[in-house]
Amino acid sequence: MIIKIWGARGSRPTPVHCEQVQSKISSVVQRIQARDTASPQARERFLASLPPWLFGTVGGNTACVEVTPREGPTIIIDAGSGIAELSAAMSQRTNPRHEFHIFFTHFHYDHVQGLPFFGPAYNPDCSVHFYSPLADVRQTLSAHMRHPYFPVTMEEKMGGNLFFHQLQNDTLQLGSAVIRHRELNHPGRGWGYRIEEDNKAFVHASDVELLESDFEKSDANSAFFGNSDILILDTQYTLGEAIEKFNWGHSSFSLGVDFATAWDARRLYLFHHEPLYDDAKIHKNLQLARWYAQRLGNLDLEVYISQEGMEIEL
Ligand SMILES: [Zn+2]
Ligand SMILES: [Zn+2]
Repeated sequence: MIIKIWGARGSRPTPVHCEQVQSKISSVVQRIQARDTASPQARERFLASLPPWLFGTVGGNTACVEVTPREGPTIIIDAGSGIAELSAAMSQRTNPRHEFHIFFTHFHYDHVQGLPFFGPAYNPDCSVHFYSPLADVRQTLSAHMRHPYFPVTMEEKMGGNLFFHQLQNDTLQLGSAVIRHRELNHPGRGWGYRIEEDNKAFVHASDVELLESDFEKSDANSAFFGNSDILILDTQYTLGEAIEKFNWGHSSFSLGVDFATAWDARRLYLFHHEPLYDDAKIHKNLQLARWYAQRLGNLDLEVYISQEGMEIEL
């Protein structure tokens, strides 16, 4: 499967500020030496040598992750503002897909606000399936697409073939992908998803404030969290902030490393980035997370930042 990140910010969209752009440009200019501009190749080498927080950004869109299984329809987890970018990119593809299955972790704004801009839902040639463990998926989604919040309603204008499903406790197979869900600790309830294909496992756990019980070696926990190849995890805060923001529903990156270690995850992707953190701060947290994994003795764990536009092959 291929996992693509379309939005990794938490809580609200986070555009890069003017001062942040100016600060990046200023830092780059300070690093340039005469030899870096001597030829087009030297310029390319210089740009390639820049750290990712200067020559890039984690992006500002809220939660949306696309999963393309080896066989079968497109799977999408959450419809934050990132799904609008997915939709725009889809319209440019020469062979656009026509069947989409959107799984909601929960219905907080940052996980649904892009849905009104998801083009395939308006296209009569497309089928869009919506899933949640909660009942009333249709009512919940259509309630945020109506006057005075939005000029068109789901019922009147979304002319695609829409299907609404309440997930039961069993597994669901879509093409070569097998999908399971599990409730996570988050205000108002939330769910994680585990997608398996060809003996590889991807776990998406956001939003979540991890509990001691999530570390317990029960059969249910092992079956859901254990031995993932890719773990995308809500690691919004530093440990200090997670303590200050107890019960807000999010975890720290250090607890994320503990969790990935406890469950033998191979690659941890920090996700649901705090909107008050700029690119430099998020990358600093990444360095600290990697340092912490080393100090724990978990030399096998790879830690990355979920970054908009990133594609992960599994
Ligand atoms: Zn969220
Ligand atoms: Zn939430």
